[in-house]
Amino acid sequence: MPRLFQPSLVNDVFGDPALIVDLTFRRQALLFDLGEIYPLPPRKLLNVSHVFVTHTHMDHFAGFDRLLRICLGRPRILHLYGPEDFAERVRHKLQSYTWNLVPNYVSDFTIAAHEVLSATRLKTVEFHGRESFHPRQPEESTIANGILVDENGFRVTSTLVDHGIPCLAFALEEHEHLNIWSNVIEEMGLGIGAWINDLKAAILARAPEETPIHASWTEGGTTRTATVPLGTLLGTAVRRTPGQKIGYICDVGFEKRNRTHLVELAKDADELFIEASFMAADADLAEARHHLTAEQAGLLAREAHVKKVTPFHISTRYSECEDAVVEEVLRAFFGTAA
Ligand SMILES: [Zn+2]
Repeated sequence: MPRLFQPSLVNDVFGDPALIVDLTFRRQALLFDLGEIYPLPPRKLLNVSHVFVTHTHMDHFAGFDRLLRICLGRPRILHLYGPEDFAERVRHKLQSYTWNLVPNYVSDFTIAAHEVLSATRLKTVEFHGRESFHPRQPEESTIANGILVDENGFRVTSTLVDHGIPCLAFALEEHEHLNIWSNVIEEMGLGIGAWINDLKAAILARAPEETPIHASWTEGGTTRTATVPLGTLLGTAVRRTPGQKIGYICDVGFEKRNRTHLVELAKDADELFIEASFMAADADLAEARHHLTAEQAGLLAREAHVKKVTPFHISTRYSECEDAVVEEVLRAFFGTAA
């Protein structure tokens, strides 16, 4: 079965940060960071439903205009996520243009700017084309377990880290796969029915094992019912296999608090995209600019037990020795550093 997420960096490792993730067999894509995105054709940009911006330093956000230009006039909503003050940055971007004609467009292209205020609070401001992109009243909601988006079989989680300013790191996870063993269900004296969907929903919602599952099925023209605790079905009638996971970390310092949060976020990811801005020899520069060294990126990936590490956002000062930077990451990742 093909994997759900097809991630690819938009630019080379020295270019602006932007990672596009196409969702297999769906006309949907996600963007992580919004630097230069001209290499992406309009048909791809039109698939983008959500954009996750780590912070609004220019190299992470300058692609906003291009995305807006392509999406303008389309009957859709585009969700943008970013750290504190993000909605205000989006407002400034939008208000730098003249919109007197847009209220007459047939469609109402809308941007929802979601601002992560803290680990538990989200502020959302909508900008509607029909309203000349004037901001609507902000609405606040709660963030549970760092989850920003949970829909269509995947979720995006974030954590707040320090880059001299508040900055976000992200994990994209496919929901776990749940395989139902119908022979085990029958051996338990139950039958297959629509209740299987309730069972799956309870597992995905991480309901406690004592949660009653109300089974209902048809047998010989008669409807039969039974109630079974979730825990009885888990591990017997249901097999769980983890979904695909991708981590995205860009522009963070290596201090302890950041590390703890990042390792937890990226834990066991299939692939981790992580900045490797400076080499260890220039660690003082990395620290002053709240960036990771290549070695630190590799150590983080190792500690998080990711399966594959993909370094990017490398300083152009290393444009003649890209291989050395990547090697430094991999030596730390595989634990072969001198
Ligand atoms: Zn930055």
